[in-house]
Amino acid sequence: MGIITIERNVLEKNDQVAQRNRDMLRAHGVFTCNLLSSPGAGKTLLLERILESIGAKRSIAVIEGDVQTTLDAERLERFGIPAVQIITRGGCHLDAPLVENALRQIDLTALDLLCIENVGNLVCPSGYDLGEDMKIVIASTTEGDDKPLKYPAAFRNASVLIINKTDLLPHVPCDMAALRGNALSVNPSLKVFETSAFTGAGIPELCGWLMEQSPRRE
Ligand code: MG
Ligand code: ZN
Repeated sequence: MGIITIERNVLEKNDQVAQRNRDMLRAHGVFTCNLLSSPGAGKTLLLERILESIGAKRSIAVIEGDVQTTLDAERLERFGIPAVQIITRGGCHLDAPLVENALRQIDLTALDLLCIENVGNLVCPSGYDLGEDMKIVIASTTEGDDKPLKYPAAFRNASVLIINKTDLLPHVPCDMAALRGNALSVNPSLKVFETSAFTGAGIPELCGWLMEQSPRRE
């Protein structure tokens, strides 16, 4: 009983800060997505492809969540964009206060799109609102086709599913129809993209959609 109360208070506090983040981001006309996946699904490489593809057409910033190291933010800073690294030192998810701190380091006035790369973990990140417009869950073909059934909250709370590493389909036991079907059985309204961040397949479709979500303001 005590544990449940503490948990609820933590989430209530988180949701208050998340709403503040959302109000501020929306007031600045920023479209914000929160990227969730297990470790190694290709979130950072996808972000690199997005920056290559539409970095000149939209003003983009990223917040990187990792348990340790600044490696991912360094990869993205090479594109000349604001990249803030949050190191959770063991914490397995981002929360709204961590993102609020990171937002203080980003000039939101000219920003069109903010991508928050959550800590690689399909469990608790799905339960924490950061103030984003939507969660995007990334499942890679190397994880097989059953993850939506085993980690349903991540797929239920997301608006978009990106199935990544499609180039590896010939080599891994993953049935694309089953993966899609499992995801849609958990969340019938998921919008699904199929990509290979490695070869670039599917990136134009994903980026076209992202640009529609984040119109450049005059
Ligand atoms: Mg990463
Ligand atoms: Zn966690």
